[in-house]
Amino acid sequence: MQHRRVMRLARPGARLESVVEAIPVPGRHQLLVEVGACGVCRTDLHVCDGDIPAHYPIIPGHEIVGRVTAIGSDVTNFLPGDRVGVPWLGGTCGRCAFCRSGRENLCDAPVFTGCTVDGGYATHALADARYCFAIPPEIDDVSAAPLLCAGLIGWRALRLAGEGKRIGLYGFGAAAHLLAQVAIGQARDVYAFTRPGDDRGQSFARSLGCAWAGGSDEMPPALLDAALIFAPVGALVPLALKAVTKGGRVVCAGIHMTDIPSFPYADLWGERSILSVANLTREDGVGFFQAVGQSKVRAVTHVFPLEEAEAAIASLREGRVDGAVVLVPSPLAGPASDVETTVPSRGARVGA
Ligand SMILES: [Zn+2]
Ligand SMILES: [Zn+2]
Repeated sequence: MQHRRVMRLARPGARLESVVEAIPVPGRHQLLVEVGACGVCRTDLHVCDGDIPAHYPIIPGHEIVGRVTAIGSDVTNFLPGDRVGVPWLGGTCGRCAFCRSGRENLCDAPVFTGCTVDGGYATHALADARYCFAIPPEIDDVSAAPLLCAGLIGWRALRLAGEGKRIGLYGFGAAAHLLAQVAIGQARDVYAFTRPGDDRGQSFARSLGCAWAGGSDEMPPALLDAALIFAPVGALVPLALKAVTKGGRVVCAGIHMTDIPSFPYADLWGERSILSVANLTREDGVGFFQAVGQSKVRAVTHVFPLEEAEAAIASLREGRVDGAVVLVPSPLAGPASDVETTVPSRGARVGA
């Protein structure tokens, strides 16, 4: 029997456990994917901490890139051997008012990869083929993984930000570093806001072409047309509102945020607005990967072996890395008792 290694979380607040178990068989609409890389998203921290409603025990991970090794009887869009990306949106009901009006990101009965169904902190994962994407061949697995959520949610957030030229990004991590490149490629000016005093993060932002970088407690040199907030810090909302011009939008792009403090109505006056981005649609994914395939967006990644998922999560939690954190499984062969893994070395890399 073929086996896989998974990193499973029994309950919120527990440590991820490394488990070797039988590889599952794909259902009618499912793909079995041999995972090449799986990104570590901030949402995974919220799953681990119990900040959002997840189904436990759970294998986290919703930025999966890998190769199809088996398909269910009703799969029509992928074949064994194809390379696929598995995103956060793992399924929708297709029947609710949101699904029927082209807003499947707001589905009343959604499936979320690595949250309500098992995800990609594993050597092999199942995914509903109807929600998977083809990955442009010029991007390798590790570089493609962060695109599956950080890139895609950022893309949707940028669309909601409107057409303004001056874009502020609060929280310069995995999503912002990708989105900054997309926005600069669209001839926009990007203003990066990091934790106050994070000189390294600010110089990282400048190195990617941002027009300005400073602390989130600072005002930018010019008022923004839109501010996108990626850090899970509610106190950034009134700060960002002060930094946008009349008609400006403040877009909250995370799934979880601490409470937003009260602020004077005058800060909202002038047709400023605050909105949130929830999930993604398959249409977002198709558009995004077309744009990425044609552009020069490059992920800065920090690779950890799958079994060091706890260390990878900690590095993200503590803000110790620039760019995106990615897990890479090592090959696993034979039954559990025979398993001795050789893990890839950890380290930073840039490229695609
Ligand atoms: Zn629905
Ligand atoms: Zn995510």
